[in-house]
Amino acid sequence: AVMVGHRVRSRRRWGRAVALVREFEEACATSVGRLRQVVDAMAVEMHAGLASEGGSKLRMLLTFIDNLPDGSEEGTYYALDLGGTNFRVLQIQFSGKGSMILTHRVQRQPISQELMTGTREELFNFIASTLKQFVQREDDGIDQIPDVRKDLGFTFSFPVRQLSVSSGVLIKWTKGFSIKDAVGKDVAQCLNEAMLKTGLNMRVVALVNDTVGTLALGHYYDVDTVAAVIIGTGTNACYLERTDAIIKYQGLLTNSGDMVVNMEWGNFWSSHLPRTPYDISLDDESPNRNDQGFEKMISGMYLGEIVRRVLHRMAEESDIFPDAVQNLSVPFVLRTPLMAAMHEDDSPDLREVGRILEDHLKISGVSLKARRLLVRVCDIVTRRAARLAAAGIVGILKKIGRDGSAGVASGRTKGKPRRTVVAVEGGLYVGYSMFRDYLNEAVAEILGEEVAPYVCLRVCEDGSGTGAAVLAAAYSSNR
Ligand code: BGC
Ligand code: MG
Repeated sequence: AVMVGHRVRSRRRWGRAVALVREFEEACATSVGRLRQVVDAMAVEMHAGLASEGGSKLRMLLTFIDNLPDGSEEGTYYALDLGGTNFRVLQIQFSGKGSMILTHRVQRQPISQELMTGTREELFNFIASTLKQFVQREDDGIDQIPDVRKDLGFTFSFPVRQLSVSSGVLIKWTKGFSIKDAVGKDVAQCLNEAMLKTGLNMRVVALVNDTVGTLALGHYYDVDTVAAVIIGTGTNACYLERTDAIIKYQGLLTNSGDMVVNMEWGNFWSSHLPRTPYDISLDDESPNRNDQGFEKMISGMYLGEIVRRVLHRMAEESDIFPDAVQNLSVPFVLRTPLMAAMHEDDSPDLREVGRILEDHLKISGVSLKARRLLVRVCDIVTRRAARLAAAGIVGILKKIGRDGSAGVASGRTKGKPRRTVVAVEGGLYVGYSMFRDYLNEAVAEILGEEVAPYVCLRVCEDGSGTGAAVLAAAYSSNR
């Protein structure tokens, strides 16, 4: 009788774990119908953000980039890429024709937690001195004359209110950075001053968001590129807009009649987003509460953490993860790359899942059945993220009339849609094939089979670094 009692109870507890996953899955549902609502909301918010300052949670920031590179850029330029877990220094030589890069040198440097949360001076001095060492090492005679000033593209992947192509003020930090005395400061000026102090004869000629660098590099290779999306530690998008649609800045004149707009879509919000109690508690406990709501459902900083929250609840309310409640209670112990590795474990007995649980989370003795359930949680979280990002992309296409609906809306018979390229960068899209597949699939699903073949998502590796260098070339005063 005792045995039977125990088995009934443990079966019930297993049932509880399954029920929690089912509930979660329902709350994360992203039917095409719901995704279309997100598409519409994105397009509506884009309009609102362009109409007035503060008109939407989408900031729709000006970039002053009015001409995108076309492959004819020439010369040696430097770039500095700051915004994720690493920062990088690059030196790139462009051939001058045919979208050809002659040399490409990179140095990667991790950014410590102390630097991410210290002072402005510490951060910029560190960057400038790393840059100086790099220049001294890489300077191989191309720019030997010491008083020739070198031009730098500075990728700074946070929301910035630009004052010109080469200057701009930090609005707020995201992705775990928090250097209070830098908010409200011109970050290009901070870098210029730090470079001057270290005796480096270099100047920021282009201050750009990573999405903008990616759009620039995408366009350098393919002139049908009209938008760029980053899905990495954080997420964001930018696109080419007509200046007369940027109503909040009337009279904005550019030679091309266009300007790149940095959407800061990480802060997008809509009641149509499928939000769960786990998302709400993650947000409540984050340092930037009520901020970056879209980003918190999509980007690499958060996906593993959402999964951890679900697993923690399962551990509390069932016995499928024996003795794991404590280990699963620590925020951010489950990093997204580990989550992705478990999700992509294709061994029949989920050996890799077991290994990661033991090695990284110190959780052992998880049954195969329970490991399967865990993989399902990873799948739910990743699928929702990828599909929401897909809806965001189609929202942009809708705003600029490239989603195939323009012909219908204006009552004209539909012409052939134009070929449209969206450049995509960031670890989730580039390095996580399940995520990429889900995203591509959802874009095609939303667009429908007539339009989908004309829309191409193109991986643009290192857009944020190389793209800043090519913009430095395009906006250099030596040109
Ligand atoms: C930042 C954006 C950036 C994105 C991707 C977000 O957290 O606000 O400026 O483009 O991350 O790096
Ligand atoms: Mg980056």
